[in-house]
Amino acid sequence: MLGGCAAPAWDAEQLAARHPELRRHSGQRLAAVRPYYWPGRDALTLFLCRWRLGEPIPVSIAADATAEERRAVHLALAAWEGAGLGVSFARVERLAGAGIEIEFVSGMLSWAASTVAECAVGGDGDVPPGRAVDARMRAASIQLGRNDPRLVGSALHELGHALGFQGHPRRGDSIMRRDPKRLLETSVRVGKGGAFSDATLSALYALPSGTVLARLPLPAGRTAALDRLAAIARRKGWRGPWLQVGDTAGRIGWRGAGGAWVALRLTGLRAALEDPRKLAIEPDANAVRWLD
Ligand SMILES: [Zn+2]
Repeated sequence: MLGGCAAPAWDAEQLAARHPELRRHSGQRLAAVRPYYWPGRDALTLFLCRWRLGEPIPVSIAADATAEERRAVHLALAAWEGAGLGVSFARVERLAGAGIEIEFVSGMLSWAASTVAECAVGGDGDVPPGRAVDARMRAASIQLGRNDPRLVGSALHELGHALGFQGHPRRGDSIMRRDPKRLLETSVRVGKGGAFSDATLSALYALPSGTVLARLPLPAGRTAALDRLAAIARRKGWRGPWLQVGDTAGRIGWRGAGGAWVALRLTGLRAALEDPRKLAIEPDANAVRWLD
């Protein structure tokens, strides 16, 4: 559930009916996902985004990490590699473009660990009905707290976000629940080399990246600024668009000339799931310049 009482357009039953392959992942809570979105041409397309399989995902750990912090992250990476999703990681010193970067922050409370993840969209997100969006995870940046007593569990949880699952199931057996006790238990178990799996992430990786969950009509003209910016981006050859999803807000941006961000902020995302008119799209200062 994404707040409110109404079931989202992709509740568990509908998902299972549309994707029978999910039956193999019993206990999965994929319906609790906070989807990625593409607002364009007066519609809001909500979809899943995950990494492409077949190539290891580059991961870098900040140079100032202690040996113990590195060990915890390596255990968490190995646990996800062994969880049956099909993902693997390449440990690199520094990222060159796509990948996951992990840093440690002093004085941060363990529950404040966070992840910003980006989904890259091709073809302007414009998809014929019944088809998937051309989308894949491309980057994530994780902040973990120093002195986190459940560091392996926190790393597993944040890596779950980095792998493409935004949101927190309220029920069930998933590392993606906001549940300190579970994080600690999992931390201890995986720290001792115990088994790890997560049906919810397995379910995400059982479906193609870009799988469409819903398409909601928007009021006429609501996506006009974004449609114009997308056309400018195409003409100028900017890199992107890259999407970020937060609790209630998100961002769609391109890297323009010199690598500067040109972005639109999306607010009212959660409310928009029940009432698409509540979605607001605001260009940032750089985007305003281009739109003028
Ligand atoms: Zn979380």
